[in-house]
Amino acid sequence: MQATTQLIHSIPVDPLTGAISVPIYQTSTFVQDAPGVNKGYDYARSGNPTRATLENLIAELEGGQVGLAFGSGLAAIDAVAKLLKTGDEIVAVDDIYGGAYRIFTQVYQQFGIKIHFVDTTDPEKVFNAITPNTKLIWLETPTNPTLKISDIEAIAKIAKAHRCLLCVDNTFASPALQKPLSLGADIVIHSATKYLGGHSDLIAGLVVTSNKELGEKIKFYQNACGNILGPFDSWLVIRGIQTLHLRVRQHCASAQAIAEFLEQHPAVDKVYYPGLKTHPHHDIAKKQSKGFGGIVSFSLKNDTAEAATAFVTSTQLFKLAESLGGIKSLVSHPATMTHKSIPAEKRRAAGVSDSLIRLSLGLEDPADLLQDLEQAFTTTETNLAGNRHTEKPVTC
Ligand SMILES: *Cc1c(COP(=O)(O)O)cnc(C)c1O
Repeated sequence: MQATTQLIHSIPVDPLTGAISVPIYQTSTFVQDAPGVNKGYDYARSGNPTRATLENLIAELEGGQVGLAFGSGLAAIDAVAKLLKTGDEIVAVDDIYGGAYRIFTQVYQQFGIKIHFVDTTDPEKVFNAITPNTKLIWLETPTNPTLKISDIEAIAKIAKAHRCLLCVDNTFASPALQKPLSLGADIVIHSATKYLGGHSDLIAGLVVTSNKELGEKIKFYQNACGNILGPFDSWLVIRGIQTLHLRVRQHCASAQAIAEFLEQHPAVDKVYYPGLKTHPHHDIAKKQSKGFGGIVSFSLKNDTAEAATAFVTSTQLFKLAESLGGIKSLVSHPATMTHKSIPAEKRRAAGVSDSLIRLSLGLEDPADLLQDLEQAFTTTETNLAGNRHTEKPVTC
């Protein structure tokens, strides 16, 4: 059976009523026949049937043993970080998601957990950063917003040899394209807010592991710390996942078309998209994923925040907003939005130039998206030229 068919039919029809859609169990507690004698559920923080359906679904989709649903992607990251103890060290991708950077450096570092950021696109740098205290390697691939690719299989081998866990944040690729557990990772996390939810209408996080014992520990933290996903949002994520493969196929096709268009545009300096043969990690991306994703970044020849701001305020279909992975195309300017808190020199060194623009391709017709970008380039040029000519004469 093909993956899509398998996925759609792995969601059970309700055995009680035959409801073809998963029921939303909007309840806090479950009546017991006798103390400790129940139908599998006692209190809804510990377990809820709607959430359990989502947890089984994501475990199946990522090819893992245990799936767990949290109130946000960051809550999922937090639950994994709780596996560490004072004195332990993390080796993490240098181009890490800003929220992950914040929780590791501003929350966990104060509990005596050290974090080393390295360029994980070079497995040797990961190898060199490992100390006897390293317990966790943290990858994102592709990264945000310059879409760097790390070789999951090569790094999984390094992790195994040093008995540390490898966790991959699979948010950008989604399991429709990339399955880190099958490449040797121990844990996968998701911001389900993005492609899995897929409709920009919820905040949710997921953890999957191929190791039952590890799954039990994270499940313990889920219940002990209480950062669970509610039944309605669980239901929305299930609904999103049902169309994941179909949506991601279109996100990828549009991204490829737009990346190729941008690559030959005279106002564009660099284009970042793993699906382009010119991308430095194109071959690894091709080896470990079924597609190259729905995010494209590019910089302008006029490498100024002013030019980028003019561009991101000129698009009509691409809406100016943070986040990604939804139905509507989004545009953002990392230097003044998601990466604003990073010092300019550090930001530029990471490849986030002043004019870098990130696109999240939605599900509009790609021809309309191309036309919108064409029009934004023209409007930007006119506006910037207009500003130069209308500089006000100095009056006293
Ligand atoms: C958005 C995001 C997160 C955080 O997820 P939230 O659902 O916003 O808490 C983590 N990692 C990546 C790569 C993300 O894009």
